[in-house]
Amino acid sequence: MDTKIVILDVNNIAQDTINEAGLVVKEGGLVAFPTETVYGLGANALDKTAVEKIFKAKGRPQDNPLIVHVANRNIETLVKEVPNIAKEIMSKYWPGPITLIFNKSNLIPSTTSAGLDTVGIHMPSSVIARKLIEAAGTPIAAPSANISGRPSPTEVESCIEDLSGKIEYILGGEKSQIGIESTIVDCTCTPPCILRPGAITIEMLREIDNNIYIDKNVMSKPKKDFKPKAPGMKYRHYAPKAPVKIICGDIEKTIAKINEIVQTNMGNKKIGIIATDETKDKYPFGTVVSLGNRKQLETVGRNLFEVLRSFDAIDVDLILSEAFEEKGLGYAIMNRLKKSAGFDITYV
Ligand code: AMP
Ligand code: MG
Repeated sequence: MDTKIVILDVNNIAQDTINEAGLVVKEGGLVAFPTETVYGLGANALDKTAVEKIFKAKGRPQDNPLIVHVANRNIETLVKEVPNIAKEIMSKYWPGPITLIFNKSNLIPSTTSAGLDTVGIHMPSSVIARKLIEAAGTPIAAPSANISGRPSPTEVESCIEDLSGKIEYILGGEKSQIGIESTIVDCTCTPPCILRPGAITIEMLREIDNNIYIDKNVMSKPKKDFKPKAPGMKYRHYAPKAPVKIICGDIEKTIAKINEIVQTNMGNKKIGIIATDETKDKYPFGTVVSLGNRKQLETVGRNLFEVLRSFDAIDVDLILSEAFEEKGLGYAIMNRLKKSAGFDITYV
């Protein structure tokens, strides 16, 4: 299939292009598009046949539901009810990087929800994303625009790498502001439960309801018979080709441990190191990439997936990563890093 690729100027968004991409969605095709979290691979959320194409293009397991993206807060027709707590979260954090889970209405085909009775809904803050949804005239179901299992794309080049030739249209815009997928909060239970951490942190959500909690399976390795509330939890995720190992603890000890592992293995392995601006000059061997300044976790989050993907391009055999404190945005960053490492962590 020929994929049309158009890069928008975010300061002067061409409505013609938006309309053209919107028409592709309306007619049952697939469009990759930017959001503030990561790039999404979109189809008409209400069209079963269109949604099936997303699973095929990504190689996504059939039981992993899609998030439905909307351009405004009028979601009444898509869900059975909007609980008061959800209304509060929506009024405070929509548009923005948070997905809420509701009991779904019959308008949402079971292919979109992967057979669940619930649906996740996200109103993105990205203006291009909302304009596209408006032009399509329908909610857009969109998982991240990567081949299943790979790190999510936060730049159009990564969407092109994964999906060119497989979908009708790739709409480029700016690099994703957040760089990490949305926080997911299940609002069908009381108190609500965080199924995936993101830029809207537990600390921020507890300002609305102090009882909101994080599902205990978010930060641990899934057991074999694990039946997750968010089916995505059970899949290997965000993973570059080479194995990732996290070294966690005091930063000086971390540096020493990473250098020790590099020196032991460098005779027969090409090693990548995920460092930070403060530490990057302390690794004499290996291919060192910095995620940014440790004190600016927003930058670290924005760079994380592209740094993971960059190691695929240079074919390293092993990736060693520093860790971050599991607080605020650091919690979501560590969640993605741990999943990309398959929970291989050495504490120092
Ligand atoms: P992705 O867009 O690739 O990050 O995948 C969407 C994530 O949202 C997956 O991990 C899903 O398991 C999760 N998700 C979507 N809809 C639901 C739902 N109705 N209930 C629980 N989790 C959901
Ligand atoms: Mg994904």
